[in-house]
Amino acid sequence: MLVLSSPSGAGKTTLSRRLLAHDGDITMSVSVTTRPPRPGEVHGQDYFFTDVPTFTRMRDAGELLEHATVFSNMYGTPRGAVEKALSQGKDVLFDIDWQGTQQLSENAAQDLVKVFILPPSAEDLEKRLRTRAQDTDEVVRQRMAEASDEISHYFEYDYIIVNHEVEDSLARLQAILAAERQKRERVTGLAQFVNALRAAL
Ligand code: 5GP
Repeated sequence: MLVLSSPSGAGKTTLSRRLLAHDGDITMSVSVTTRPPRPGEVHGQDYFFTDVPTFTRMRDAGELLEHATVFSNMYGTPRGAVEKALSQGKDVLFDIDWQGTQQLSENAAQDLVKVFILPPSAEDLEKRLRTRAQDTDEVVRQRMAEASDEISHYFEYDYIIVNHEVEDSLARLQAILAAERQKRERVTGLAQFVNALRAAL
C-alpha cells in the first residue's frame, strides 16, 4: 500500500495519474466523499460522490478502511476494493491525508509505504491552487491556511519529495516503489525459491 499525502495543490493528483499510467501493477484506491464534484471530475474515477447519510451508513457498517473530515467534507477509503486488489497481488495507491494515513498505519504498518509531497515554496502552492481555477478565492485561502497543518505531519512519513518538477518527482516516486517492492519480506515465494536454488547447487 503506497500512500501519497500533501497539502492540496502540491501536485499529488498529477503525480498519481502519471505513476498509474506507467505501472500496471498498482491500482488507485477511489475514495468516497461528501464534497461536491469539481468541474471535470468523474464519479467512480476521481471519487465516489455521495451524501452525508450514505457516507455515515458506510462508515458505521465498517465499509471504510479509514475516514476523515478534511475542509469540512468527509472522505473515506472503501474497504472492499482495496482488499480485492491486494488479494490479487496488486499494489494500491492512496491519495489520502495524514489522518487517514495514521489509521492505515495502526492496522497495517508493515504493508504501508508513506510518501509526503511538499511544494517547493508557498508562492508555488498558491499559484497551483489558483491556476487549478476550480476553487473559489475563499476556498483557496482556506486551503493555504490548512496547508501548514498538513505539512506539520511530514515527520510521520517514510519519504519526502519536494515537487519542483513533475517528471523528476515521478522518477523519484518510481524509484521508491521499485526499491520497496524488492524488500526481502515483500518478495513472495522467496524461501521456496532459495531452497530450490540451494538444493540444485
Ligand atoms: P480534495 O478535496 O482536494 O480532492 O482532497 C482534499 C484532501 O482530502 C486531500 O488531502 C486528499 O488527499 C484527502 N483525501 C481524499 N480522499 C481521502 C480519503 O479517502 N481519506 C482521507 N483520509 N483523506 C482523503
